[in-house]
Amino acid sequence: MTWTKRDFLKFTAGAVAFAFAGAGCAVAETISKLVLSEEEWRKKLSEEQYYILREEGTERAYTSALNNEKRDGTYHCAGCDLALFESDTKYDSGTGWPSFYDVIPDRVGTKTDYKIFFPRTEYHCTRCGGHQGHVFEDGPEPTGLRYCNNGLALTFKPKTA
Ligand SMILES: [Zn+2]
Repeated sequence: MTWTKRDFLKFTAGAVAFAFAGAGCAVAETISKLVLSEEEWRKKLSEEQYYILREEGTERAYTSALNNEKRDGTYHCAGCDLALFESDTKYDSGTGWPSFYDVIPDRVGTKTDYKIFFPRTEYHCTRCGGHQGHVFEDGPEPTGLRYCNNGLALTFKPKTA
């Protein structure tokens, strides 16, 4: 078979398309955003949940039943149900808030906040933007991170056998 310039171009285009398709597979799943109005959020959430998730509030320490949750399962965003943490990354930080040393990849976004006198890294759910907590660099190995999460911003789903 002899290659014409035209065949070559077709072949090249095909190879490029294939390469793009391949790259697409490596990209993490696309998480569809949940966007609600303030009024819709107020209907969907309790007053305390609204304060935490939508106004970046913080619940009082030692108030969440999830502090003592030790079962296998997944922790989901209380705003939109996106799974954020696996139970095997939860640990007892002694701070009075549910704490995790790692997050499910691509499920939270971060920003720096200056609500108190030193900067902290705030993190929030990537689907609904709901505030979850702050991440600190004093966690256990292997990540050295401590995701300090509001219990009211999460729902726990035990693993079903
Ligand atoms: Zn969410």
